[in-house]
Amino acid sequence: MTPSDLAAITLCVEDPDRVITTPQIVERLSRDFYWYSPILKKLLDDKVAEAVIQPISVDEVQRVLACCYAREIPVTARGAGTGNYGQAIPLHGGVVLDLARMDTLESITEDGVAIAGPGVRLGVIENAARATGWELRCYPSTIVKASIGGFLGGGSGGIGSVAHGGLRDLGTVRAIEVVTMEAVPRVILHEGEAVHEILHAWGTNGIITRVWLALTPAVEWAQCAIAFPTFEEAFTFSEKIATEPAWTKRLVTTFEWPIPSCFAPILRITREGKSLVFFMIAAAQLEALEHAARTAGGEVTLAAPYTGLRTIPLLSDYTWNHTTLWAIKQDPAYTYLQCGFSPTEARSQFAQLRERFGQEILFHLEFMKTGKGIVIPGSIPLVRFTTEERLNEMIDFCRSIGVSVANPHSNHVEGGGRYREDNIQLMAKHKYDQRGLLNPGKMITFQPQDETHPQEVV
Ligand SMILES: Cc1cc2nc3c(=O)[nH]c(=O)nc-3n(C[C@H](O)[C@H](O)[C@H](O)COP(=O)(O)OP(=O)(O)OC[C@H]3O[C@@H](n4cnc5c(N)ncnc54)[C@H](O)[C@@H]3O)c2cc1C
Repeated sequence: MTPSDLAAITLCVEDPDRVITTPQIVERLSRDFYWYSPILKKLLDDKVAEAVIQPISVDEVQRVLACCYAREIPVTARGAGTGNYGQAIPLHGGVVLDLARMDTLESITEDGVAIAGPGVRLGVIENAARATGWELRCYPSTIVKASIGGFLGGGSGGIGSVAHGGLRDLGTVRAIEVVTMEAVPRVILHEGEAVHEILHAWGTNGIITRVWLALTPAVEWAQCAIAFPTFEEAFTFSEKIATEPAWTKRLVTTFEWPIPSCFAPILRITREGKSLVFFMIAAAQLEALEHAARTAGGEVTLAAPYTGLRTIPLLSDYTWNHTTLWAIKQDPAYTYLQCGFSPTEARSQFAQLRERFGQEILFHLEFMKTGKGIVIPGSIPLVRFTTEERLNEMIDFCRSIGVSVANPHSNHVEGGGRYREDNIQLMAKHKYDQRGLLNPGKMITFQPQDETHPQEVV
């Protein structure tokens, strides 16, 4: 980027203070949680933008994109930078478009839809929703920091997914407004099925500027932790609660020992050598859950009301990809995979993996509903990393025994497991970013086309 490029971009925003070139800040805002993966760490450590722009309106986004288009400057969108796969790391310099300041929560409609700017934090939506009798259908364990734009751009699901599926399921994302990367950037509304053009496209085919997110009626929740002597018993009990529709739940997480030994602040609710299950369960069902757990041979180590995101301890802080974080804190040799076990063959799959890889893989399950309405043992197992070859061997073996893997050690949309087989994210890129300037290098099937014949590709 030349000084003249920077001067031109600076004219696109009303306040020049929202154009940042201080190297330390630019570097910080060029990073996400890519270092969870030893492979991505090596690959991305030196990648950095040349400037960060912080727009506050759709107008400013349009002006910045028009300017970057004319000067062929790459633009990488950023929410809160909590993504795990280097999604928000610019591979080719240019501009990081930091959308954190477009953080207006416009409304929660009477029929339970949150209308929000891309920079609104998910925790803000959850709190506002609960104040009016609604709550998020699903959210990542990074809810307090993560933005709605980043969740749609790079996330998949989380707490709540056991009941409501992932972000892309069951019409949760009602509509998305995006700005295109063209000579004259357009503002385009995607509704219904068309949202899948943009969902989980890592900001490669449009900048999300407004979101309509369906909520669900709020439930009074409780938290519960139960220790079981064996992983088999913990799995059997958690599977039962997760799959039986009579239980109203928001979180069902199962950890085999020694994973709970990494949870330093809550060791008092763990038991040496035992597997642990965490639940968010309807408060009205807490007693029944405790009773069922004891009958199944479990020890209830915590049963307490959930009073919102400030509840202490907040069990969700140890689930989903927070589990990996606690493990890495204790031993940097840990990394992870993202797997889907079979709802009918999981026991045999666990056994085969244990036999082949021993304690190199440790089971951490997150039950989740699929788009077809089946609850499956999703999993973010911990892996003791030795070499890339060994990790790939594990991935190949998983796939060979019917365990699906969304590879978190890959830095492109197609590799991460949420890429659509119908290629609609790619087709949208051809429509909205023909020069390939949005987060370049992250959608590897994209090849820029002759701009004079765009219709051939659409
Ligand atoms: C400890 C930990 C736990 C996690 N747990 C979960 C989990 O439970 N479930 C889950 O799904 N994820 C999880 N994640 C990943 C991540 O936190 C979530 O996906 C989160 O929603 C990302 O939001 P963000 O604002 O940080 O996005 P960012 O990291 O800033 O961006 C994510 C992607 O979206 C793109 N993007 C951002 N804003 C826009 C925009 N306005 N328009 C277009 N593209 C945009 C970026 O370019 C990037 O490709 C976890 C990560 C960590 C570190």
